Amino acid sequence: MNQQVKSGKVLSPVTPWTERAVPGIDVADEQQSLKAIYTEPTIECPECHALVTRTAMSFNVYVCPQCDEHLRMKARERLNWFFDQVNSELGQEFVAKDPLNFVDSRAYPARIKEAQQKTGETEALVVMQGQLKGLSMVACAFEFDFMAGSMGTVVGDRFVQAGEKAIALKQPLVCFASSGGARMQEGMLSLMQMARTAAVVERVKAAGLPYIVVLTHPVYGGVTASLAMIGDVHIAEPKAMIGFAGKRVIEQTVREKLEEPFQRAEFLLDHGVIDQIVHRHALRDTVYRIVSKLMNLP
Ligand SMILES: [Zn+2]
Repeated sequence: MNQQVKSGKVLSPVTPWTERAVPGIDVADEQQSLKAIYTEPTIECPECHALVTRTAMSFNVYVCPQCDEHLRMKARERLNWFFDQVNSELGQEFVAKDPLNFVDSRAYPARIKEAQQKTGETEALVVMQGQLKGLSMVACAFEFDFMAGSMGTVVGDRFVQAGEKAIALKQPLVCFASSGGARMQEGMLSLMQMARTAAVVERVKAAGLPYIVVLTHPVYGGVTASLAMIGDVHIAEPKAMIGFAGKRVIEQTVREKLEEPFQRAEFLLDHGVIDQIVHRHALRDTVYRIVSKLMNLP
């Protein structure tokens, strides 16, 4: 099945498999132990294809322990990890509507319902207010698994509320961006969110508060063209793909082959689009340090 688990290399960093008590399993019985190993949910690293247990991955904040690949994190999980203490969640009163009665191969409400069931979220943006190392701030994260983290009216509403809350509380705003762009099922209303979110960011800045953007794989389209590129500081996770149009579309337009690492965070850092690339393990410390500096805190 997989070499790593058999050879005992990919194990939970906390308790080795062989020492973990599994209910109803006699660890001395080899057949039974192997069955227990095989039934533990594992995540396959898309880069090195190592099978790592879900527990081990979550302890390592979804960074592959074998090759350091940064796997995608769920929005809620990310914010709960980012904050030491969450005080409240914002914007839950906004729920998706179907203003255009849009139907493509399927009706838009059916797509929303499916995304809600798949992710357990009501929309593609999660906003929380809490504390990072004693520093209060408002942070939001895109849920990419919810219709590719696309920005519809509810995402706009929630982001605007996050900005307004930051202004009201005089706290910095942090955004973990990960999106395929605007939500085509909402047409023009979706595109309007670019202007709305950019406007609220301007108000946050006018209030003298920092707005930090963390670009996580991948960020494209209308989100790149608005809230994700107007931060005071742009941090990206290693190897994150960031762009407006996708690589294939650009290749077809300019009729040139675009080689790796085109649109990767490393490429954008070389070309001055982003400020720094930070390993996920150092992200909380980095955001804390930048915010403290920008807010003139000791
Ligand atoms: Zn890996």
